[in-house]
Amino acid sequence: MKRTAAFAAALALVLTLVPGPAAGAPAKIKIAKEKQFVLDWLARPEAVERFGQISDSIWDYAELGLQEFNSSKLLADTLEAAGFKVERGLAGMPTCFVATYGSGRPVIGLLGEFDALPMISQKGRVPRQDPVVEGAPGHGCGHNAMCTAAAAAAIAVKEAMVAHGFKGTIKVFGSPAEEIVASRPYMIRAGLFEGVDAVIDNHSSSGFGTGYGVDGNALYSTIFTFKGKTAHAAGAPWVGRSALDAVEIMNVAANYLREHLPISQRLHYVILEGGEAPNVVPDKASVWYYIRNTDERLEDMYQRVVNCAKAGALAAGVELASMRVISAIHQRHANKAAAELFQRNIELVGMPAWSEEEQAFAKALQKELGAEQKGMPSKLDALEAPRSGRDFVGGGSSDVGDVTLIAPTATIGFPGSVPGSIGHHWSNVACWRGTTAWKGLNAGAKAIAASAVDLLTKPEELGNLRKEFEEYVKTHPYKPFLPADSTPANDLNKELMDKYRAALEKALSGK
Ligand SMILES: [Zn+2]
Repeated sequence: MKRTAAFAAALALVLTLVPGPAAGAPAKIKIAKEKQFVLDWLARPEAVERFGQISDSIWDYAELGLQEFNSSKLLADTLEAAGFKVERGLAGMPTCFVATYGSGRPVIGLLGEFDALPMISQKGRVPRQDPVVEGAPGHGCGHNAMCTAAAAAAIAVKEAMVAHGFKGTIKVFGSPAEEIVASRPYMIRAGLFEGVDAVIDNHSSSGFGTGYGVDGNALYSTIFTFKGKTAHAAGAPWVGRSALDAVEIMNVAANYLREHLPISQRLHYVILEGGEAPNVVPDKASVWYYIRNTDERLEDMYQRVVNCAKAGALAAGVELASMRVISAIHQRHANKAAAELFQRNIELVGMPAWSEEEQAFAKALQKELGAEQKGMPSKLDALEAPRSGRDFVGGGSSDVGDVTLIAPTATIGFPGSVPGSIGHHWSNVACWRGTTAWKGLNAGAKAIAASAVDLLTKPEELGNLRKEFEEYVKTHPYKPFLPADSTPANDLNKELMDKYRAALEKALSGK
């Protein structure tokens, strides 16, 4: 959810021309009673606090992708207690769930993520680097607030259905491991989205807005593993064949490759295994690559990186033992009609009013980071149009991309990050605990719930999304990048999470 200066300028212009809603103030338009119900239901202080506490608990758990046992259970239990039918452990992932309320068409899906990132542990609301547990995971992308916002919105919609008797189905897709983009292609493959008419995605942001068009990068996430022969590294190294050499040669080849790829690419790696002691030639080594490009260029780039791996194996005289595709995903193709509807509801909800304490924390964090000390935002973001004519539409990736090609989807970005805080960094972890996050996720939940009510009660609104989508997929049919033999990486983060889970629990219980 990056906003450009051009859009900020466009927004300023729009605001001078149109007397839009001020921060926190409702727009002066007639609001349907079903929609007013969800807005009022979520505005109650007990709702703000209840879902705020859930978000804080998930922040405390700080669970890595596919290890989110506590986070997933808390959200699924909350939805079940509210009357949803909850199916758990879906698509081969123990932490994946779907919560359903209602029956028949239309079927509106809400996406929700809840995983943390490694290495960035940080105390909440502390504006300087200060980890809860050194080296432990932390919520540096606000995912603790995201499935929470979806759950809050879904429960509000369910209550409105009970109170006002409108029909249809609302579903929350509890989606693990977004940080390793590793659940949605499997959830689609398992058929979980079959029959879903439209999807409302959400993501934490420093602003409050949405957009449409193609965004972000498609991605292959693959672990390359090499097998060689051990030997005494000084006594008889000629007997050995180093798997680590193959990793290093592969990396050198891949780094030369960058020069000859279109600028839409992103390429990065970490070495997972590289031997255990210098005096034993490593017989096993592995390297984990993220290979990113546009949908059109991804497969060609991937094959060229595979060639680098083969070159490494050949040069080192070792075997390229496996290429494990953890995930492979598309760019996001957000639906314009969906984004326009969501934007109207974002404008209806308005930016939360931030307290003096919240502004003081924001300015202290901005000062620490050397960013402009402008505090929290007061204005909404303008609807973000596609950056057409540009070769590069964004480096990051999300497995929401695959969902955008199987149902009309757009993402509501809700506030809570301090502007100038850095994603996937301790400064962002510091933002996502406490009242700023509570207000941001509550505002997001209102926009999600209001949009879901529109899609459930106004066939013409849903019709606009569906018409655009059906036209679009004629030229962009969904063909998964994920290989048919890939399985969810339930083991990938286990060791790392097991290492920190008890220490995190201990540190937080002693608070
Ligand atoms: Zn994220």
